[in-house]
Amino acid sequence: MGPFTEYQITDPRIPPVTVHVNREAHIHLGALLLGQRDPDQIVGADVANSLAFFTRVFGPPLFKHYYATEIPYGHGQAFPGLIHLSWWTFRSFEENGIHEMFRAHEMAHQWWGIGVEPATYRDAWLSEGFADFAGLWYMQLVLNDNEKFFKHLKDWRRDIRARRGEIQPRDYQVMVYEKGAWVLQMLRNLMLDFRTMKEDAFSDVMRDFYGQYRGRRATTRDFQRVVERHIDVPMDWFFDEWLNGTAIPTYILAWRAEPTPEHRYALHIRIRQEDVPRDFVMPVPIAIELAGGEHAYVRVNVRGPVTEATLQLPAEPTALELNPLESVLADVKTEGWD
Ligand SMILES: [Zn+2]
Repeated sequence: MGPFTEYQITDPRIPPVTVHVNREAHIHLGALLLGQRDPDQIVGADVANSLAFFTRVFGPPLFKHYYATEIPYGHGQAFPGLIHLSWWTFRSFEENGIHEMFRAHEMAHQWWGIGVEPATYRDAWLSEGFADFAGLWYMQLVLNDNEKFFKHLKDWRRDIRARRGEIQPRDYQVMVYEKGAWVLQMLRNLMLDFRTMKEDAFSDVMRDFYGQYRGRRATTRDFQRVVERHIDVPMDWFFDEWLNGTAIPTYILAWRAEPTPEHRYALHIRIRQEDVPRDFVMPVPIAIELAGGEHAYVRVNVRGPVTEATLQLPAEPTALELNPLESVLADVKTEGWD
């Protein structure tokens, strides 16, 4: 690597962080290639901001000083109190968010993988899936970029769907990282309060799970127990469908509305479900737009080949969107009522 320059970050929210970078090499690279002018500061910002964000949502990290070090390879890796970051993330050519999420992913391993260690290889998603989700969450809530957040979720869904039914060892990354992140995204949305759009219930689960297993090993079952204690509902169905199973549903939405004598509207909804076992069940959000521009969110329990529901609305519904927040790992289509 050559000699490192040390860039110190002091920020009242977090322990001290030292970024190691071969600044001289980057000056030479900068003359040849596009890229950031101050790579250590760009990288340091994500390291510091993700460290602060994860401390807030997950709880205190294990160490008193953190190091982020450039390596002459294409990957990243996390060690106790230290993250290795590929040299290419210090160049940051791409603007699609992968660099920011990559840095946050590696930092998230201080909680998931190192703070809480997966007990067996079957629990590996508690490290890589959680770290990938943490990178997405950082993109949405700290960098405030919904577009990149949803773009990556959709890209990952496409990868996962492409592999369903014929998963092989080479799909490790797609299944453990990308689907693992999707499982947390689904849990988060199940727990989302649609009235306030607050997600405190979900972050409480994450903080509690981390706090309980900090410095120890945990299994998927341990995580499930923490979730169940918070929401007071058995969650076997959820973990069976999304972690033990590989089926990915397709939903086909149809709807029609009619005025009722009480000057209200009856909204009839029909959702056909395909590509999953008959008993596959999942609450799926629907966004309803009303004449006048108001929006309402409801959850429909989709189960079996056909689910039908009728809702009474105060105004005429003008548009419906099934799964508007990417709450469920599913394909969504629409069809006419007849
Ligand atoms: Zn990782």
